[in-house]
Amino acid sequence: KTFNDFNLSQEMLNALNEKGFTNPSPIQALVIPEFLAEKANIIGQAQTGTGKTAAFSIPIIESITRDGSIKAIILTPTRELAIQVCEEMYSLIGKRDLRVSAVYGGASIEQQIRSIRKGSDIIVGTPGRIMDLMERRVLELNNLEFFVLDEADEMLNMGFVEDIEKILESTNAEKNMLFFSATMPPSILQIAKRYMGQYKILKV
Ligand code: AMP
Repeated sequence: KTFNDFNLSQEMLNALNEKGFTNPSPIQALVIPEFLAEKANIIGQAQTGTGKTAAFSIPIIESITRDGSIKAIILTPTRELAIQVCEEMYSLIGKRDLRVSAVYGGASIEQQIRSIRKGSDIIVGTPGRIMDLMERRVLELNNLEFFVLDEADEMLNMGFVEDIEKILESTNAEKNMLFFSATMPPSILQIAKRYMGQYKILKV
């Protein structure tokens, strides 16, 4: 398989080419076409370093258009991962008019609020800070097209389950959901059943 098999825009193919990505990784080959489809709910089982960031970023960037509301959110267990995902997304956004804000604890919330208020299309962040920003009514997540949990098992291990559920409960119902996890403990499947209803497991 090559990236040409996925009906991607020329802009995206150029960005991938510039990054030196020629062929999709196995998890990308499985997830990209599924997550590009409407009403896709997916659990992706893949280790870190398998290309999972681009697997969700490519469909999100290809699908959303800027309209003043937040279209996609990616929850990560750590600030380092949030920053890394944000950077990889920008490298795939290229010259498109899309903005990503990374939000996480241990850093000035005021600066993050300013970043969001300038108009973010995509939010990447840790659950605690996202909850805080929702409570302050800075983040409104009622027009999402995509919801991603990155390293879902890590987030549950770190005790973020209640935050994740609260965040999920304050989002609109219709959206594509993707949970990435290296392991598949029953708690992940429970959350999936509760919030996704129907879902596919894609595994490499
Ligand atoms: P990730 O699992 O998303 O952290 O990605 C691991 C590393 O693989 C990162 O350095 C990516 O930039 C790189 N990568 C992701 N997808 C591809 C690809 N299709 N071809 C080459 N490198 C890739």
